[in-house]
Amino acid sequence: MIKFVNVSKKYSDGTEAIKGIDIEIPEGKLVALIGPSGCGKTTTMKMINKLITPTKGTIFINGEDITAKNEVELRRNIGYVIQRIGLLPHMTIEENISLVPRLKGWKKEEYQSRVNELLELVGLEPDTFKKRYPLELSGGQQQRVGVVRALAAEPPIILMDEPFSALDPISREQLQDELKALQKKIHKTIVFVTHDMDEALKIADEIVIMRDGKIEQIATPEQLLQNP
Ligand code: ADP
Ligand code: ADP
Repeated sequence: MIKFVNVSKKYSDGTEAIKGIDIEIPEGKLVALIGPSGCGKTTTMKMINKLITPTKGTIFINGEDITAKNEVELRRNIGYVIQRIGLLPHMTIEENISLVPRLKGWKKEEYQSRVNELLELVGLEPDTFKKRYPLELSGGQQQRVGVVRALAAEPPIILMDEPFSALDPISREQLQDELKALQKKIHKTIVFVTHDMDEALKIADEIVIMRDGKIEQIATPEQLLQNP
């Protein structure tokens, strides 16, 4: 479980991006972080894997205060999909997906079969795609690879910053369905950022609504649909 206790973030230029938030993200759920541009979604995500340090308050993962944790160790347990995909351009799709498993010392047969399995999960034929470079794929295909790459070493927590942005509406719906199906299968904690309420209502188990650096509401889609 990820827990924020009275967390604030003031950037060095004085911007108060996060103003004392409390969140509890239960284990194994698909959680949407939603709110208008500039409300603090990315800052919140980056504090979970210590790319940004809170100015105040404490973040716990499974009861442990993350300030005391080694960053490298922490990030090995957290898959992160950044906004603009972030595949490494000089590596093939297979090399990109297997990067963390290889760093963790997986055997060749193990990571190769994992790459095949993950590509198939998102509808990319392994033999066609694994030896290609990112720029030889369409935007939607790259985004799919970005998503499964975060899952490759089966981290307990996966953070996705607007994983569906930059997709055409059809690919977007497909990838939403794929992510939901994947989540049901692997039962990992997945937190994704969106500014699309329909998307959050469609796939999330819980929705955290942010506004101006604060939490406005935390609810399930069912609760929001009954009491909009
Ligand atoms: P911190 O104090 O948390 O280290 P910094 O203020 O040093 O954060 O900024 C970290 C990075 O974010 C820098 O590379 C900076 O260029 C970039 N940055 C600065 N202002 C903004 C902004 N308003 N929105 C997004 N990124 C910004
Ligand atoms: P969101 O992801 O919801 O669009 P962000 O977390 O990126 O929001 O930004 C929250 C606020 O903090 C915004 O006002 C943004 O301009 C500001 N901000 C983000 N990064 C930095 C930074 N590195 N330095 C200064 N201000 C920043």
